[in-house]
Amino acid sequence: MRGLERPSRSADDSRMNNPASGNAALAARDLRHVWHPCTQMHDHESVPMVPIVRGEGAWLIDADGRRYLDGISSWWTNLFGHANPRIAAALAGQARTLEHVIFAGFTHEPAIELAEELVRITPPGLDRVFYADNGSAAIEVALKMSFHYWLNQGHGEKTRFIALTGSYHGETLGALSVSDVALYRKTYAPLLLTPFLAPSPDAYEGEPGESSEQTAKRRLGELRSLLERHAHETCAVIVEPLVQCAGGMRMYHPGYLTGLRALCDEFAVHFIADEIAVGFGRTGTLFACEQASATPDFMCLSKGLTGGFLPLSAVLTSERIYQAFYAEYSAGKAFLHSHSYTGNPLACRVALETLAIFRDEPVLERNRQLAASLARRLEPLRAHQHVADVRQTGMIAAIELVADKASRRPYPAAERRGLRVYLHGLQHGVLLRPLGNVVYFMPPYVVDASDIDLLVDTAIAGIERAVAD
Ligand SMILES: *Cc1c(COP(=O)(O)O)cnc(C)c1O
Repeated sequence: MRGLERPSRSADDSRMNNPASGNAALAARDLRHVWHPCTQMHDHESVPMVPIVRGEGAWLIDADGRRYLDGISSWWTNLFGHANPRIAAALAGQARTLEHVIFAGFTHEPAIELAEELVRITPPGLDRVFYADNGSAAIEVALKMSFHYWLNQGHGEKTRFIALTGSYHGETLGALSVSDVALYRKTYAPLLLTPFLAPSPDAYEGEPGESSEQTAKRRLGELRSLLERHAHETCAVIVEPLVQCAGGMRMYHPGYLTGLRALCDEFAVHFIADEIAVGFGRTGTLFACEQASATPDFMCLSKGLTGGFLPLSAVLTSERIYQAFYAEYSAGKAFLHSHSYTGNPLACRVALETLAIFRDEPVLERNRQLAASLARRLEPLRAHQHVADVRQTGMIAAIELVADKASRRPYPAAERRGLRVYLHGLQHGVLLRPLGNVVYFMPPYVVDASDIDLLVDTAIAGIERAVAD
């Protein structure tokens, strides 16, 4: 195939004119060797594999020159557009200076400066930063660190975790252990730790007539009784603040986080806030925990941390927790966890540039306007006979499709209604990727009003197709 390439004016021209590097050829090569995540590969006998050659703002461009509006920020990572020139320049500069160095015994300015910045912008009291290289790894770090803190304090009997129903914290074994999305967990359950599950404060699952605040309060009561029974053996409660994303963009009242902070203090267990998806402005504030004025004991960050450019994660914690590990070597209290690419300078530099954009531009203010126009556009869907709920928290909006509106009976998962919305989106130049029966929007912050119109119009037409017959 390489031999068929001919020089031509621009790379794009050559791709579009040369079937050997168009969509069909790239998809065929891909399917010969590549195994994709979160995919039954057999689906690709009918669902197209889309080879992307270029990104530009909120848009992705495939090898046939077709454009797709990225309605889900490429799995919730992208904030300021694909191939963002400012971030790309920072990355190139760092690549010419220092690409990587061992992070034990050695350090570098991008990691130092990023730690300083993260401490500055996160809730007060988070003063220590431990780096890892993806979201799941950050969760592993937080779980191990919490357990090890209690061990170092003479409480080796604390070996359990509390997670919320419907939670998702990643798919490595530890992170999957504290996740409660059956699709990901069920098969591997025999390999996993078993957490105690506390009922989610998810407002959609509230009692009829109950406000989201009342649901949160009731769920805190249930968490309290779980803690009364199990706090003595529990290291931490782990939650996704405000929005349980992979579990179907289920949303809850910030009062739950305020109450959770108080309960964790009362019962001497840690509060782990997984802000991997909701951090960096997604929910309207820079971090979701701010809406409850709550400082967790551990805050996990990834995804938007690098603006969607490179894998990187960070776990922030308090000086008090750090001090429980700080001792003579012989005491054997050091935290032992390492990844080869810990604190990668390229990723740290890109994260710093992402944070600089937050400083230089009125990002949250602009997002408030975008979120308001998204809300206006979604309002009419509430009346749709197959829509049970339209919910939104900042730059995350979701539509819950149901078979029957009155009883909220869901469509059977096997009918794959969401897949029809996905396919409709692809045909009309929009990347939507429903979570089961939940169609959601989580666009990059660089979309404009006409992009939002296109997102919503395409979703509505896709929903009509999905609910027909
Ligand atoms: C995506 C996600 C993770 C896992 O991050 P990866 O980088 O995909 O391993 C963990 N927690 C939440 C809330 C997430 O959305």
